[in-house]
Amino acid sequence: MVLLGLFTISDAAQNTPAQDPGEPPQGQPHPELLSRPGGAIARQSVDEKAMQVLIHELVGCGTRHSLSSWTDSKRGIGCGRDFVAMRFRQISAESGGKLQVTVNEFAATSERTGGKPVPMENVYAILPGNDPKLAKTLFIVSGHMDSISSRWTDPEPDAPGADDDASGTTVSVECARLLSKAAASGQGFPRATILFAAVSGEEQGLLGSKHMLDWIKEQGYTVGGMLDDDIVGADLAPGGPHRVRLFSGNGTVDDCDSPSRELARAIEEIDGRSAIRMIFRVDRYGRGGDHYYFYKAGLPAVRFTEPLEDYTHQHQTPRTENGIVYGDMEKYLDFKFMGDVARDNAEALRQLAMAPAPPARTILKGAVTPDAKISWTAEEDPERAGFEILWRETTESRWQVYDFVVTGTETILKGVSTDNHYYAVRAVGKNGARSIAVATEAN
Ligand SMILES: [Zn+2]
Repeated sequence: MVLLGLFTISDAAQNTPAQDPGEPPQGQPHPELLSRPGGAIARQSVDEKAMQVLIHELVGCGTRHSLSSWTDSKRGIGCGRDFVAMRFRQISAESGGKLQVTVNEFAATSERTGGKPVPMENVYAILPGNDPKLAKTLFIVSGHMDSISSRWTDPEPDAPGADDDASGTTVSVECARLLSKAAASGQGFPRATILFAAVSGEEQGLLGSKHMLDWIKEQGYTVGGMLDDDIVGADLAPGGPHRVRLFSGNGTVDDCDSPSRELARAIEEIDGRSAIRMIFRVDRYGRGGDHYYFYKAGLPAVRFTEPLEDYTHQHQTPRTENGIVYGDMEKYLDFKFMGDVARDNAEALRQLAMAPAPPARTILKGAVTPDAKISWTAEEDPERAGFEILWRETTESRWQVYDFVVTGTETILKGVSTDNHYYAVRAVGKNGARSIAVATEAN
């Protein structure tokens, strides 16, 4: 009986009548889709060996607790900063000086700094965009170089932090290598600016990323997208291929179309569903990460994390207790998986940084009329081919392309009800790169 019931429901679901009134009378238009930009980052161009070396160096600092020494070159977070900055500088030299490497010093306070300001440092490598307007838009990839032991406020115990988050730091650095190389080879990349970051103070309350957001605003940049990589180094069931999880928050509207969600959708579209597992929540249940303050500011920000975490390897002082080995050690990492994550981040950044700016003020009008009217604004861009009009069933999670508009900033979807779908607009470059989508708002 139960089985029979299931079949009945499933049959009914598959035979949903397609002739509901208020839908396009002759089916939707079939826009010609520009293919995405060639020259994709090849998986085999990822240098897993170099990633392994950097992680070994970071783990070799003993601890990278944010309250440990910034001046001891052998032990502490200063040792970690030195290795990251050195690697960025080496990568820059290899690409003919494409990267601007900066160590950003600041002070930050939280409960976990004992309530008093402590010195912190972030390391940034910047790949400047070559389009005068878009160069003020920043796409960011970030990992946190600090680590933590079982005693959260104690900088003394060992805290190898191989997975959390030497892995994300190393993904950020490898992206810098892959993309500065791509930039050195020319081909109009990147139009927007890319920031490769290694921040501190994550375990003390997201202090480094919060400061980075302030710094970005001070420098006059707008955020095109922020990719936080945190705990991306292990695959508990190797042999996959397994998808990396990509977390994005719902935002404050009721349609799940926050800028962060649009960034997640864009990344999934670029890297493919077999590589990315979108998760529609801001982070793992009850936990947080460096994308959080960007997300809360209404900016597009997402978090990459491995498919399944092993909690005996996180935030643990290395030890064996009752036969269980605790500690975030290198031996638990999977460099094949981490290399996949690096490639997926790099390719997403490459395509996003090649795209025109997203449209602004996307408005849906036409309530209580038979047609949906969509309008938007956009600055002049000779490299833009046009705009894709996107729509989706309110129960679907991904956009579909409804139409393509070459000129103008308004379109009328004849005979399409405003009520039954969500709508968005995105810009498409002549090179085929798409901006993130911008969901329509009510008039
Ligand atoms: Zn972390």
